[in-house]
Order: sequence, then C-alpha cells, then structure tokens
Amino acid sequence: MDRMHKTVCALATPPGAGGIAVVRVSGPEAYPIVSKVFVPMHRQKSVLDARGYTALFGHYTLRGAEMDETVALFFRAPHSYTGEDVIELSVHGGTAMADGLLEALLLAGAEPAAPGEFTRRALEHGRMSLTQAEAVMEVISANGRQGAALAKSALDGRLAKRIGGIQTALQSVNAHLTAWVDYPEEDVPELSDAQFTAALQQQKTELDSLISGYGAGAVLRRGVDCVLLGRPNVGKSTLLNLLAGFDRAIVTPVAGTTRDIVEQAVQLGDIRLNLFDTAGVREVGADGDAIEAEGIRRSWKKLEEAGLVLAVFDAAQPLTDADLEIARRCQGRPALAVLNKQDLADSTEAAKAQLQPYFKQVITLCARDAASLQPLTAAVAALLGTAQLDPNAAQLCSARQLAAATRARDALTEAICAKQNGFGLDAAAVCLTDALQALCDLTGEDASDRTIDEVFEKFCVGK
Ligand code: GDP
Repeated sequence: MDRMHKTVCALATPPGAGGIAVVRVSGPEAYPIVSKVFVPMHRQKSVLDARGYTALFGHYTLRGAEMDETVALFFRAPHSYTGEDVIELSVHGGTAMADGLLEALLLAGAEPAAPGEFTRRALEHGRMSLTQAEAVMEVISANGRQGAALAKSALDGRLAKRIGGIQTALQSVNAHLTAWVDYPEEDVPELSDAQFTAALQQQKTELDSLISGYGAGAVLRRGVDCVLLGRPNVGKSTLLNLLAGFDRAIVTPVAGTTRDIVEQAVQLGDIRLNLFDTAGVREVGADGDAIEAEGIRRSWKKLEEAGLVLAVFDAAQPLTDADLEIARRCQGRPALAVLNKQDLADSTEAAKAQLQPYFKQVITLCARDAASLQPLTAAVAALLGTAQLDPNAAQLCSARQLAAATRARDALTEAICAKQNGFGLDAAAVCLTDALQALCDLTGEDASDRTIDEVFEKFCVGK
C-alpha cells in the first residue's frame, strides 16, 4: 500500500496542558527527516547514526530558529511499536512547543498521521493482531483499574489465545469431517454423533461465556448509564448525594424541585455510574406543569436507554399508582428497586412483595445513612454481572468482536441442531465452516479491509 512508504508524524500525548508532549514519527524516512529538525547537544552525535533503544538530548529548530529542548528516543525497524523506524520526540507540554515541532517535521517532509495510523501500521507489519489493536483503543479509553486490566488482558493476546483454542478445536472436527466425506476410501474413522455434538457443545459453551462476559466487561471499562427514578420526595436527591459523597442535588422536603436532569459520574465500587437524576415522576393533572411534563417524558426515555435503573420508593408510605406505573415500566430492564426510608417504615414486606415481580432485585435502605452504600454497591455489581467477572480472564472488548463471536456461536448452535434433527454431517459441516469463518473475522485473520478500516476509524491520531 502506497501510504506505508510515507513517513508520518502526530502528537502521541493528549493535547492540552501537561509536563511533556510526545510527538511520534514513523516510516522509512523517519531518521533523515528528524535529522533535519533535531540538533543533538553533543555536536559529534548524529541522528542518522543513532541506534535503536537509545536516546539523545538536544533541541529542535523551526525555520532556522532554535526552539524547545527535546529528548529523542530512537527505535529501529522492526523493533518499534509500528515495526518501522520510529523516533519519539519529547518536548515541553502545552500545545505550542509540540505544534512547532509538528510544523517543523511537516516542513522536513513528514505527513500528518491519520487517526489510528500508528496502530494500523503495527497491524500491517504483523506487530499485533486485530484484537490487540482494538485492545489498544480500549486501554486508551478505559477508566478505572479493573477496566484497564480487562483491556490489557486482550492486549497481551489472551483473547487471541482463547479464540485460538476454540478455532483449533473446531478445525480439528472440521478436518475430520472433510476427510471422512471427501476420502471415503481412506478408512477415516467415522465421528460418532455423540463425539461431534460434544466437541461442538464444548466450544459453544466457551463462546457463550465470552459473549455473556462482554456486557459486564464493557460496564467495567466504560461505566454504565444510570437513571434514578421515582416520585417526588421518595429520596432520589438524597440517594444521589449519598452516591456522590457531597451535596450535589438540592434536597428539599417540597415536591418537584428536581426539574433538571442532572448529569454526573460517580464511582460505585468498581463501576462508574453516569447518573441522570430525573425530574420527579408524578401524574400530571389537567393544569399540569409543562416543565414537569417534559421532565417526565425524558425520564421514561432515559429509562428505556439506561444500562442501570435505580427506581426509588418510599418505604414509609403505601405504594401509590404512580409507584406501580414506574415499577411496570421497569419490568424487563436492568432495574433495581430501592425501598428507601427504611428507618421510618414499620414493615417493608408488603411493598417488597408488590415490587418483586417487576425488578431483578429489591433492596431496602436508608439513603441518609452512609452505611447504605455497601449493600447498594453489592446489589448493583450482582445485577450487572461485574461481581462474577474475572478481570484477568480474556474478554471480548468491542461490539465488532461481540458480533463475530455471536455469529460463530449461532452457527455452532445450528450445526448441533442440524445433527440432532437427522440432517447429514455435510449440513452440519456447512454450519461449522460458517462458525470458523466468523472466528477468522473476529481475530482479523481474514478480515476484509473494510473491517480493518472500521476498527481504525475509531482511533485517535497519535496512536
Ligand atoms: P426527591 O424529591 O426524590 O429527590 O427526595 P429528596 O431526596 O429531596 O428527599 C425528600 C425528603 O426525604 C428530604 O427531607 C430527605 O431528607 C428525606 N429523606 C430522604 N431519604 C431519607 C431516609 O432514608 N430516611 C429519612 N428519614 N428521610 C429521608
């Protein structure tokens, strides 16, 4: 590909204030280009002679003027991130010095790197697999320790290895089938129905576990959009304050003050909740308050979209029709019922029984009490499946990977069904081939350029 012969450069650190800014240069002309721009402090040293894994201190020049102090780190192909000649130039942070350096490099013949181009080059030079390239993206955008550990495990190639195991097992079944069908005279032992089904079932289980871990993994990496829902005065703002650890929403005993959807991120154990505090949900009368009505409409919409719904009810009062309407809308959603004001309630059993059919879980607490955070954290982790997830096990880490794994799993299900329903082994073999193709798509072995383009479109420049 023509573009691979070009030498590209980009800022590799986030733009904005910071101690240092790193500009990365990669390509066949990296050394000659940098030698025009970077002047080592010891004049007897030369960029062109610099060996890989060494560093030089000096400054860079722009249009003949001496600019910032610069540290140059040298990498020689193929021992670099991209597999090409790479030089990383560190200058002082803030954008001015890095911008000047980029300008100097462009003047010297480099081209600006496209988003994700460094990682794409690494892929093209066989420095990493497609799943690893996607994991790089996840590491960049991961938040929280657990999320980063998950993304990192894919980066280590653990995901590629886990998929590889499935591929090997299926390929051996496939090879057996092919041999048996195509070379009947060779006396290949027939694969019994039981062996065939057992082999496929085992790999289907493996895919099932990868697929089910995806949602929880994504929650750990990116957090979850969470909506707080409930009638006025049930204690939503108080709960929000408990989560946030300070008085973020105004708590008042007057109904309907929380009109705006407050957006805030709070950390609940390992999970980041992106919170939307909604206007108090209540029935709107004939002279209904228009702002409230709009708030209510938005609340229902958020309820549909949220990855986690915290529906708050007042344990000190019998449930109202409005409460039950909220409960009904929570059915089938990732929703947790919070029976609040436990301290004021004589018994919560009746309310619990009424809510249970609509929710994955009902918990009773007192939002005013900081000790309520612990059971709430545990309930949310159980609901979202993060409690059961091993952060060090390989996980799927993009929607594209999930789609491919699901296709492979579905094809295996079909193969097993075909066999059980008495269709011949060749019908099952077709499904098996589909499953293998889907797995190749997943690892990028056979990925079309389009898939690769799709992956790299999401990258930020500099990686
Ligand atoms: P919102 O309208 O749903 O946001 O409700 P608020 O958070 O403003 O709470 C309404 C009132 O209930 C306030 O006076 C809170 O202090 C009070 N409240 C909230 N949670 C509790 C609780 O667990 N126990 C008690 N006793 N009062 C609470």
